[in-house]
Amino acid sequence: MKIILLGPPGAGKGTQAKFISREYSIPHISTGDIFRKNISEKTSLGVKAKKYLDAGKLVPDEITIGIMKNRLDMDDCKNGFLLDGFPRTVNQARALDSYLNGVGQKIDVVLLIDVPEKLIFDRITGRRVCPSCGASYHIKFNPPKIEGKCDVCHSDIVQRKDDTESTVKSRLEVYGRQTEPLVGYYEAQGVLSKVDGSGEIDQVFQNVRNVLKKYN
Ligand code: ADP
Ligand code: AMP
Repeated sequence: MKIILLGPPGAGKGTQAKFISREYSIPHISTGDIFRKNISEKTSLGVKAKKYLDAGKLVPDEITIGIMKNRLDMDDCKNGFLLDGFPRTVNQARALDSYLNGVGQKIDVVLLIDVPEKLIFDRITGRRVCPSCGASYHIKFNPPKIEGKCDVCHSDIVQRKDDTESTVKSRLEVYGRQTEPLVGYYEAQGVLSKVDGSGEIDQVFQNVRNVLKKYN
C-alpha cells in the first residue's frame, strides 16, 4: 500500500505511522526525521536544513523533493510506503505524482488526521522525544514509565527545539498557508480519507484501520 499521512503538526501522524508501518509492513518515511538525523550528524544537508527547522519554516522544495526521490528509489519502497510529513506543498505533491507516474505507480490513499486546533497546541508542547532511539512520548497523554526516561533505551527524553510555543505558532501558520491546500488537491484526485484524530491514540488507530481495510 502507498499511503500519505496528512494533518497539522502535532496531529499524531508520527504516532499513527509507527502502528501502520508495523501492521502493514511498509517503511515509515518521515521527512522531519530525515532532516533531524542529518542535523544531529551535521551533514551538509543538515547544515542547510537547520535554520528552517529552528524557525518552523519549510525546507525549500528543491532540497526536499530531491531527498524524497532518492528515498523512494530504495528497494524497501517497492511494495509500498507510508509518507509522514511529505508532501507539504502543492509543488511537492505534483513532483511526487510525476515521480510515481514515471515508475508506473500511484498513491492509494491520503489519510487526513483531523484534529481540532484547540487540541494541537497541547499535543505539540507536551511532546517529548528520545534523542537516541527516536521514540516519542507525551507528558500527559503518553508518558514514559519512568518520568523523563525513554522506555526503550532509558536515555533522557527531551523537547524538540521546534516544539516551543513561539515556533509552534509559525508551524501552524505555515501548515494553513502551504500544506492545507493539499486537502483539496487530493480530494480532487478522489484519494482523500478523513480520520477523526481527536480521540485517544488506540481509538485513532482503530479509525485508521477502518479506512485502510478498504484498500487492503
Ligand atoms: P505529528 O507527527 O503529527 O507531528 P505526533 O505523532 O508526534 O504528531 O504527536 C504529537 C504529540 O501528541 C506526541 O507527544 C504524541 O505522543 C501525542 N499524541 C499523538 N496522538 C495522540 C492522541 N490521539 N491523543 C493524545 N495525544 C496524542
Ligand atoms: P515534522 O517532523 O514533520 O514536524 O517536521 C519538522 C520540520 O521539518 C518542519 O517544520 C520543516 O522545517 C521540516 N520539514 C519536514 N517535512 C518537510 C517537507 N515536506 N517540506 C519542507 N520542510 C519539511
